[in-house]
Amino acid sequence: MSSLEKLRKIKKNIEANNVKLIAVSKTHPANDILPLLEAGHRVFGENRVQEAKEKWVELREKYSDIQLHLIGSLQTNKVKDALKLFDVIQSIDRISLVDEIVRHKKMLCSQFFIQVNIGNEAQKGGVALDELENLINYTKDKLPIIGLMCVPPADKNPEQYFSLLQELAKKYNVHNLSMGMSNDYDIAIKYGATHIRVGTAIFGERTNN
Ligand SMILES: *Cc1c(COP(=O)(O)O)cnc(C)c1O
Repeated sequence: MSSLEKLRKIKKNIEANNVKLIAVSKTHPANDILPLLEAGHRVFGENRVQEAKEKWVELREKYSDIQLHLIGSLQTNKVKDALKLFDVIQSIDRISLVDEIVRHKKMLCSQFFIQVNIGNEAQKGGVALDELENLINYTKDKLPIIGLMCVPPADKNPEQYFSLLQELAKKYNVHNLSMGMSNDYDIAIKYGATHIRVGTAIFGERTNN
């Protein structure tokens, strides 16, 4: 099946739900992305600023109405580029990053998610659960935070983590939940996902990264 056929199948699976499908194109070259753009898909995710710049500056010239999401961690020294390149940044995880974003006025980016380290894993991005409240309170008057994002531990049943993120969003009154990937987006939708991030199930296995 082509990536376009896979995308269409997933869209059909989720059409009863009001969910945004983010096609995660990291590691895949522009040529692999083009068939999806030509067929009208507009929402994509990348995890690295430099890689996104190499592919999407040019693609955006032709397809100006795309919505590009940054789903990977953002280093402070890449903020300027990221704000010009992405429409949505899903990886807000610390006060110093919020401060750096606020310092830059020229942004395309107008929507932000706070990423939560939902399984408290040392190697994972996202704000620690016990610092979430503080980060939300610090950020809410400075940036338009529209939701929470998480990547559950790889080797565990994701259900309890999706459920916890849903509870946290209710508690803090944020309205979008970015959760669910190729293997578990259907479960995430049961727990109220509004954005799913799907790479492998559309583009196939990644050879690196
Ligand atoms: C790569 C990535 C995805 C997509 O994962 P698949 O399993 O390929 O669907 C989703 N979210 C984040 C944060 C990622 O880095």
